[in-house]
Amino acid sequence: MGKIDFNQPHLTGRETKYILDAVSKKKISGNGYYTKLCQNFFESKYNFNKCLLTTSCTDALEMAAILINIQPGDEVIVPSYTFVSTANAFILRGAKIIFADSTNYNPNIDCEQIAALIGPKTKAIVVVHYAGISCDMEKIRELADKRNLYVIEDAAQAIDSFYSDLNGKKRPLGSIGHLAAFSFHETKNIISGEGGMLVINDLTFCDRAEIIWEKGTNRSSFFRGEVDKYGWVDIGSSFLPSELIAAFLYAQLEDLDTIQTKRKLIWQQYLSNLREWADYKNILLPILPDYATNNGHLFYIVHVSEAKRNGLINSLKAKGISSVFHYQSLHNSVYFKSTYTGVPLPNSEMYTERLLRLPLHFDLSTEDVDRVCQTIIESE
Ligand SMILES: *Cc1c(COP(=O)(O)O)cnc(C)c1O
Repeated sequence: MGKIDFNQPHLTGRETKYILDAVSKKKISGNGYYTKLCQNFFESKYNFNKCLLTTSCTDALEMAAILINIQPGDEVIVPSYTFVSTANAFILRGAKIIFADSTNYNPNIDCEQIAALIGPKTKAIVVVHYAGISCDMEKIRELADKRNLYVIEDAAQAIDSFYSDLNGKKRPLGSIGHLAAFSFHETKNIISGEGGMLVINDLTFCDRAEIIWEKGTNRSSFFRGEVDKYGWVDIGSSFLPSELIAAFLYAQLEDLDTIQTKRKLIWQQYLSNLREWADYKNILLPILPDYATNNGHLFYIVHVSEAKRNGLINSLKAKGISSVFHYQSLHNSVYFKSTYTGVPLPNSEMYTERLLRLPLHFDLSTEDVDRVCQTIIESE
């Protein structure tokens, strides 16, 4: 039997055609034709106020840290169960990271515990919509608004997923915080190799965001004819991707609905195949709170112990199926551990030890998914 990979980058077939077209336009640096097509796509499909493509989600988070003017000593609340960039982007500006725990029903930040972490130096709360499943955004906005804190969404995994507010209005993830960051890394639903995007929902950040994006210059307003020369007006860096990357990304965006439909079907198939087994074995499957949707980004199980989880990884591997654990809790990381003085974060550690991600990518067949599930059930 063939191998089943955990992830395979899916190509629509038009990526190289658009890259060649970008080359033939003789404008291959950033902020050109394809960059604008991609940004317009997001602004019109999800009603995002303003989008700027970046070279990664990491870069978009770094831009967010500069935009909210993080100063040394400022505190930023970040979940411990996340990718390093969620914290690193703020550390680079001198912030002190206050790690928060996950809920006991999914790896998202536990809102009930945030209030106790807020102090006079707190400047922002960063949320991560793990597996594309929304955090409790109304609760978070309420906590933040009361104390004038910024909310930043690490929406790296959250493309095309939604939060329903108390009035039942469906809002796309990435449109709720003051700023949001998406990723188009090859492991995400929509890809460009490396790539990302900053979404600016608080319009007061728009002008400065463009400047920081263009190495601290007002080059963008120069090209719109708003100023007669451009120069150095602020700090910044080279956060914008070349047109080659944007061209690749646009080919993917054209197929967004097809990609999403397929990924969500795979996700549902896992859920229905594994439901009975998981309940019987006390294994946790993804839980969608009433306010959240699923975007088929990843399917995970939370096993009963670390040993059982690791045993299952090995049993699957022996049958040619690749499954992988996920984050090491950041408060326990090599970089942070010795300086961590916060409260224990048992749920974050529980997901580090027991969470397992199953293969999920566009080119997986229904037979593949059945085989993965059958193998899991037989090996337990
Ligand atoms: C993938 C990911 C990132 C990093 O994205 P890059 O585009 O690789 O920088 C950050 N945060 C989360 C939650 C992610 O899943």
